[in-house]
Amino acid sequence: MNPGGCKINGNMEQALDDVYRSVIMEHFRDPCNKHRLKDANLTAEGKNPLCGDEMTLELKVEGDKIMEAAFTGNGCAISMAAASMIIERLEGMTVDSAMNLVDGFINFIKNENPSVTEEELGDLATLKGVSQFPMRIKCALLPFTALKAAFFG
Ligand code: ZN
Repeated sequence: MNPGGCKINGNMEQALDDVYRSVIMEHFRDPCNKHRLKDANLTAEGKNPLCGDEMTLELKVEGDKIMEAAFTGNGCAISMAAASMIIERLEGMTVDSAMNLVDGFINFIKNENPSVTEEELGDLATLKGVSQFPMRIKCALLPFTALKAAFFG
């Protein structure tokens, strides 16, 4: 359930950069599942002191399936949009495919032969623009490095 209207339809007539920016701003303004999750049994915390981003991602995992996912936090548009985008995707995924997506995104942003396609990344692919800005990569990666630590922790 995404009551906040999480699905973004980019305007095809806009330049690609504008579409990317607007998708990111939509997620920032109207994030998916931005709330606490009671009964969460997997918690990932991320902090990026360089930018002041802080977030907590909470998952409810049953067996190997992620039943619910939500996040809370404060930070820049990139970090909050990245959290919203991955949280939206996690619900209903198996833990294995979630780890694959998280790893694939990290490689995608770092330009290191990602194991996932842009199509599979969906909205997450719009964060690609930040890879030109080393300071911003940490913002985009924050929820992913936090989740990775939580999955392997
Ligand atoms: Zn940031």
